Amino acid sequence: MDALQALRDATEPKPVVAIVGGAVAGSEAAAACAARGAIPVVFEQGQRPYGKIEDGLPRWHEKLRDKEYRKIDENLASSEVIFVPETEIGSNLSWDELYAHLGFSAVVLANGAWRDRPLPVEGADTYNGRGLVYQNELVYWFNHYVDEGYDGPVFEVPDDTIVVGGGLASIDVVKIVNLELYARALRERGIKVDLTEMELKGIPRTLEAHGITAEELGVKGATLYYRRRKEDMPLASADNPTPEKLAKLQAARVKIMDRVISKYFVKFEPLCKPIDTLTEGGRLTGIRFQKTEVVDGRVRALEGTEFDVHSSLVISSIGSIPKPIDGIPTKGELYHYDSWDTGEVHGLPGVFGLGNVLTGKGNIKDSRANAIEIIEKVVAAYLGVGDEPIEALGETSAEVEAVAKKAAAGRPMTVHQMKALAERIGERHQELGYTDYPSWIADHT
Ligand SMILES: Cc1cc2nc3c(=O)[nH]c(=O)nc-3n(C[C@H](O)[C@H](O)[C@H](O)COP(=O)(O)OP(=O)(O)OC[C@H]3O[C@@H](n4cnc5c(N)ncnc54)[C@H](O)[C@@H]3O)c2cc1C
Repeated sequence: MDALQALRDATEPKPVVAIVGGAVAGSEAAAACAARGAIPVVFEQGQRPYGKIEDGLPRWHEKLRDKEYRKIDENLASSEVIFVPETEIGSNLSWDELYAHLGFSAVVLANGAWRDRPLPVEGADTYNGRGLVYQNELVYWFNHYVDEGYDGPVFEVPDDTIVVGGGLASIDVVKIVNLELYARALRERGIKVDLTEMELKGIPRTLEAHGITAEELGVKGATLYYRRRKEDMPLASADNPTPEKLAKLQAARVKIMDRVISKYFVKFEPLCKPIDTLTEGGRLTGIRFQKTEVVDGRVRALEGTEFDVHSSLVISSIGSIPKPIDGIPTKGELYHYDSWDTGEVHGLPGVFGLGNVLTGKGNIKDSRANAIEIIEKVVAAYLGVGDEPIEALGETSAEVEAVAKKAAAGRPMTVHQMKALAERIGERHQELGYTDYPSWIADHT
């Protein structure tokens, strides 16, 4: 019997878990809940559940993307999982209704980081769309403009684009800009290149294969401005590295960045911090930077070193943060957790964050591992469906034990609530024309 039917036909209370977001972390959490005998209901804002795999990871990562799509599909196509697409929590379904009224046994936030961190320059945001673009929009466009019938925002990247950033995603952004610029310049000479192939080969080898030099094309290319140095870039990391390990990490970071510079003709300006906007006629026309130094790991601005960079497009790529949802407490730019180990959300018993929304690490492996760990160790214990005796969980972490002790409070959904929920979900499915996961995905591919 499928899970929705099980809700309809319920004769005894059962743990039912709401999962917000159906991508890497959410789909993994759903599978882990089902394996523990809880019924997972996945609410996904998008038509498709692939999250940053589809909209963040640039489209040249074809193999990785296909592999991750398959894993997500495998988890969500299970008859033990209820999938509700096109349902944004905080908009199509309010947090209050989800948390307080529907009677879920637990709520898992697996909604990733869907908001760009604002560029820390006063007034810059007023130029969004007028000379300023944020990373997520740009990558979305890059990944989807090739789709048939694409009708989202369209960007024309100019040859004086600058990117403010420094993490892995900002490297993808400068690569996107330069691949676009060189492909366009080649197209103007009657040479058509495939961007995915050019990404693999690199720009110099692509030009060489067509018997053309960079000088002949005359492309200036994008410049990445970073407030620290190459060796500080979060491109390779380790927890509490020894001095030797740190030296190795720093060397690895320099090597990665040098390769990006040579393989994609990216220009790089370290130790520069954006401090002001340059504007003209209501548009952002550049950024005023200030030089910095890194002392004991801290960035220090250097007085009297300001300089202006004029550019028709500034791309801000300084990280993504969770989108606020009315009803979920925040602390700074993140949700307010009582513990990073358990993902417990402050003041909301039975609500747990997992995956990117909790770890803040833009990394598929970490998102998946964290989702499994939190479900297996914490949510299962909370619901009273864990494999391990509650006392054993205390050995891994005191905080896990504390949550596990609350397991007795894990509230199974009542039969009445399950039937009412099944009716709500059935109505939503009908509204959307949703019958089952495989047909839905086939219809939306
Ligand atoms: C440019 C870029 C490049 C990257 N490159 C790499 C890489 O090379 N290697 C790597 O390992 N990682 C990479 N990552 C990071 C990786 O893609 C993510 O860390 C990982 O996919 C996060 O998975 P997640 O399930 O935690 O979150 P997400 O993929 O963000 O999933 C969250 C899901 O929740 C849904 N959602 C959000 N809000 C709501 C709501 N209110 N209601 C309902 N649903 C909601 C979203 O639609 C989405 O499906 C990259 C990320 C970016 C942006």
